[in-house]
Amino acid sequence: MSRMIVHLDMDCFYAAVEELDHPEYRGKPLAVGGEGRRGVLTTANYEARQYGCHSAMPGFKAKECCPHLIIVPPRFERYKEISLKVRSIFQRFTDQIEPLSLDEAYLDLSHWQTDGATLAREIRAQIAEEVKITASAGIAPNKLLAKICSDWEKPNGQFSLSENEVNHFMLDLPVAKLSGVGRKMQASLEAIGIETCGQMQEVSKFVLAERFGKWGVELYDRCRGIDHRPVEVQRTRKSISKERTFMEDVSTFEMLTPTACQLLEAVRDVFERRYSDRQVRSLVVKLKFHDFGRTSIERVTAHPSPELVESLLREAWERGEKKAVRLLGVGFRLADPEAISQSELFPDP
Ligand SMILES: [Mg+2]
Repeated sequence: MSRMIVHLDMDCFYAAVEELDHPEYRGKPLAVGGEGRRGVLTTANYEARQYGCHSAMPGFKAKECCPHLIIVPPRFERYKEISLKVRSIFQRFTDQIEPLSLDEAYLDLSHWQTDGATLAREIRAQIAEEVKITASAGIAPNKLLAKICSDWEKPNGQFSLSENEVNHFMLDLPVAKLSGVGRKMQASLEAIGIETCGQMQEVSKFVLAERFGKWGVELYDRCRGIDHRPVEVQRTRKSISKERTFMEDVSTFEMLTPTACQLLEAVRDVFERRYSDRQVRSLVVKLKFHDFGRTSIERVTAHPSPELVESLLREAWERGEKKAVRLLGVGFRLADPEAISQSELFPDP
């Protein structure tokens, strides 16, 4: 049985919310982000993109491209509120919802007898009418393809791919479109003459695995448009963590700190991509020693910093009598998501 997955993606979400709340910004180049030399754009509206402004661009550079660009600071509480409103529209269609961030989600609509394009059009129409922002949609038999498709007719558009169109669609698709293929991997693929998924399909699973490890095995499926991952309904996740086991036990504090900071970045990355509608409650640092003893330290904070990680690490290491370390872990414990409940914001009519 073929599935029907829809990926919904709000168009320049943060900027769209700012235009919604400040009609005077509409039609003008607008970006959300930090101003000044150190600030970076989070989102740019389409007017600003015409000048070459884009997300992750430093504010001063954006001003060089577009001197009359309006840059406003982000208001996450407000974006969260709108995001919940959009999610309550999704819930009219399915309870199989996997939010990826405040402005993106996968919906599993396999149980519907209606065709996916009609459903997606209806969801987008309800968002436009009730929330007054636009969304784009991709409709496909799996998450991988649905996400690629939602980008196809952006902004305010949609694109569907049916099971029997998949093979043809994949042939000319650039490998860079596959989620998980970053710039670095794209370059190393290009070096061996692979630019499209069709070209990748000619490489054996063995060669892909040899070059890219476990990920290579996945690429073998992905370049064929195969993806069996289910839509994962967000259960109330309690924590996110990352750990590293050292090849050789580490016996100096100075050698532990860089790894701790890298792990913090990795945890933060997952948090921002998957759980940005949640709040961090505390930071945890965990150590396992060469003799298999272990210890962990937790500190309440909403904003884990490298300095805090370092200080918890020191505390844990000293508590373990500075023994050689075999494994280091860093994690965030998340606050209860029910802090703002949906029923409070959107009481039943
Ligand atoms: Mg978006």
